[in-house]
Amino acid sequence: MNPVEEQIRKVLLLEKAKGLRDRAVLGGLDRYLKRLVENHSLSPESPLLRSIAALPSHGYASLDPARRRRWLESTLSAVSGDPATPARPRPAGGRPSEPRRRPSAPAAPGKGRALPGGKQAASAERPPGEGALEAPITVLQGVRQAMAAKFARLGVHTVRDALYFFPRRHNDFAHIRKIAELVVGQEQTVIVNVWSAEDTRIGRRLRGTEAWVADETGMMRVVWFNQPYLARQLRTNAPLVLSGRVNLYKGQKTLESPEWELLESDDLVHTGRLVPVYPLTSGLPARTARRTVRDALDTYLEALPDPLPDALRRHRRLWRLQQAVRQMHYPDGWPELDEARRRLAFDELLVIQIGVLRRRRLWQEGGRAQPLTLPEPVRRGFLESLPFQLTSAQQRAMESILGDLAQERPMSRLLQGDVGSGKTVVAAAALVAAAANGRQGVLMAPTEILAEQHYRTLCNLLTAGQEMGWAGLLSPPYLERPLRIALLTGSLPSKEKASVQRQVAEGVVDVAVGTHALIQEEVGFERLGLAVVDEQHRFGVMQRAALRGKGPSPHLLVMTATPIPRTLALTLYGDLDISVIDEMPPGRKPVKTLWTMPHERDDAYRFVREQVSEGRQAFVICPLIEESEVLAVRAATQEYERLSREVFPNLRLGLLHGRLPSAEKDRVMRAFRDHDLDILVSTAVVEVGIDVPNATVMMVEGADRFGLAQLHQFRGRVGRGAEQSYCLLLSDDPSEEAQERLKLMEQTHDGFVLAEADLRLRGPGEFFGTRQSGMPDLKVARLSDVQLIEEAREEAGTLLDADPDLSGAEHALLATEAARLWSRVVDEAH
Ligand code: ADP
Ligand code: MG
Repeated sequence: MNPVEEQIRKVLLLEKAKGLRDRAVLGGLDRYLKRLVENHSLSPESPLLRSIAALPSHGYASLDPARRRRWLESTLSAVSGDPATPARPRPAGGRPSEPRRRPSAPAAPGKGRALPGGKQAASAERPPGEGALEAPITVLQGVRQAMAAKFARLGVHTVRDALYFFPRRHNDFAHIRKIAELVVGQEQTVIVNVWSAEDTRIGRRLRGTEAWVADETGMMRVVWFNQPYLARQLRTNAPLVLSGRVNLYKGQKTLESPEWELLESDDLVHTGRLVPVYPLTSGLPARTARRTVRDALDTYLEALPDPLPDALRRHRRLWRLQQAVRQMHYPDGWPELDEARRRLAFDELLVIQIGVLRRRRLWQEGGRAQPLTLPEPVRRGFLESLPFQLTSAQQRAMESILGDLAQERPMSRLLQGDVGSGKTVVAAAALVAAAANGRQGVLMAPTEILAEQHYRTLCNLLTAGQEMGWAGLLSPPYLERPLRIALLTGSLPSKEKASVQRQVAEGVVDVAVGTHALIQEEVGFERLGLAVVDEQHRFGVMQRAALRGKGPSPHLLVMTATPIPRTLALTLYGDLDISVIDEMPPGRKPVKTLWTMPHERDDAYRFVREQVSEGRQAFVICPLIEESEVLAVRAATQEYERLSREVFPNLRLGLLHGRLPSAEKDRVMRAFRDHDLDILVSTAVVEVGIDVPNATVMMVEGADRFGLAQLHQFRGRVGRGAEQSYCLLLSDDPSEEAQERLKLMEQTHDGFVLAEADLRLRGPGEFFGTRQSGMPDLKVARLSDVQLIEEAREEAGTLLDADPDLSGAEHALLATEAARLWSRVVDEAH
């Protein structure tokens, strides 16, 4: 290593150690690098220079943390010449001395594409180094800054991104039909000329485009609903590719809302193959996207290293990465596309599983836990003191948890159960086990009011009804000594807060109940044995990690009321064991659910009034406005005012939304809980589990905008008391898919059925906002692919058994991928 490289290596290592915040050198890394390049004549072949050149035009400073890390890693390996991550990998099986092969796939005919020339000619002799994959896409042919900005909007910044910029579908030029050959009911592709296209009314309300198109065998009608603007783009005589299912309309073949693309040149048509259609953003022509990716494939694919060890790949019969990437873009046929997808999906899933399994191992191996066994008399005493019998689902969950607690390995278990399924009493059993072993337990909730609710519930469960002050002493008959239980929330007077914290820290308090924030930030525990966390999706990876700092490894129990389909649970909570309470306590009346038409709104209001006159309470949820919280707040405020003035002038209404200070939010919630309000008008913030048994009506406006899981959560807010409860779903203009969701809500009360349907209808991203869930984005993999997920999980386990921190050379790339993925997830969760 020469002195310059030595120097820069130090700087880069320092930058890494300082957390990638561009703090390693005064004036910033970019200026430092610039000076370095100016002052030393580095060879154009130098990997260091290439790495520096690979930075985007606004430099290192403009990169997000994940990209910074990526660039640092690749530059470090470039300057150290580390053989584990060679700067210039040879493609597997490649012959080093041979000139670069053209990809076999898209042999563009006709005028085709010129061989790489100009700036690429210099590198034409050998494959580009791996670092080149991190080069900005402006190194690709014909991509200027303006175009790069458009690609950036699609998440494509580097050459690597371009290789992984997968088509959203393919045009099947291998099987082009003539209009006369089209078969009704099948997906097919035709190439036609536009005869006419106009913006038109379709039916009474919809506007759309209606076009007549033709080839030499006939003519047909094509319509696009809701897309009147399309008409302008379809000029007469323009050649057009259409793919879609052929229907009959008034006895004639027709295409409804097919995928379409203008053929700007006909060269692709003659390829007779599957041609990629990329996701587009405005101003990025289809051809440009295609050409850019083609160039990336032609020039850089060979530099893409395969992260999978050969043995694993063979064992699972997976394709090589380069082959898969190429076939993903230009498949030889549909089966090949499936194979390519399988390989790439496997990669995504494997990396996720490596991440979650590592977290699990860290948790479990990070330290011994104190085994907490629940002595039989105590268990019996606890169960007998309850005002009800556990359901068998509750019993099963309790057994698993007590089984885990008895181990030295710290428990990490997720307890899933629909709202009202009775999770708290199961948690209480675990807390009793901790106390019986002289350990502290903590129960955390996302909001103050929920923490209070848990506190009361616990007091009730542990003493059969006796209520306590804020830091009370309970004497369950089955325990040898009284239990000190404390509530810890932000609104406690500061002196009391400090005193409770001190008691917790000194080990005087046996069970602490409080908000996530408070417990994490402010409290040390003397002898923490068990942490119970309610409402998982507000509680991320980071917080879980923070908990460990609270003492020797505590056992961890996470509770969630969001039913999570198994596949999603395996990925999202793959680091946890899972127990499910899939049975409701007896005697619950299912909430009557009605999808209500807009013209029935007045009837709905009348119904609310009647319920209130009988002493009940109601929720009114305002439509979800995703674009901006400010708009959502304004809409809710207006709805609140309208309802107060015009609809329910003699009733007591409250307003709840996300912009209220949390003390105010709590005040409103309390007022509703204590029946000082009749109707609570709210944005979606009310979703999280407050118990108001007296509320019997849940009215959801704009119900079509919410997912099933969320609607189900809303519905769970009522039906908690003895009275019959109702859920009214209002929607002015639901899409077909939304109608399906609303109908399902009427038909089923099973949260898991709804969750599966939600996942199927809307995909995981929507299922619950990807960001807050900490769920990495899946580009290729589908959560419906249970088998592949399980294969990936097995392989991840095997890999980690053999090489726990993936430090082996053959795992270096996987380790980088895993770090990359999880750093992105963690960044986004904050
Ligand atoms: P969640 O799972 O939503 O947290 P809770 O633990 O708050 O549900 O329980 C909801 C209600 O059901 C509580 O009032 C609780 O006392 C009651 N409950 C729990 N288990 C049973 C049971 N086995 N039989 C009857 N009622 C029960
Ligand atoms: Mg609960």
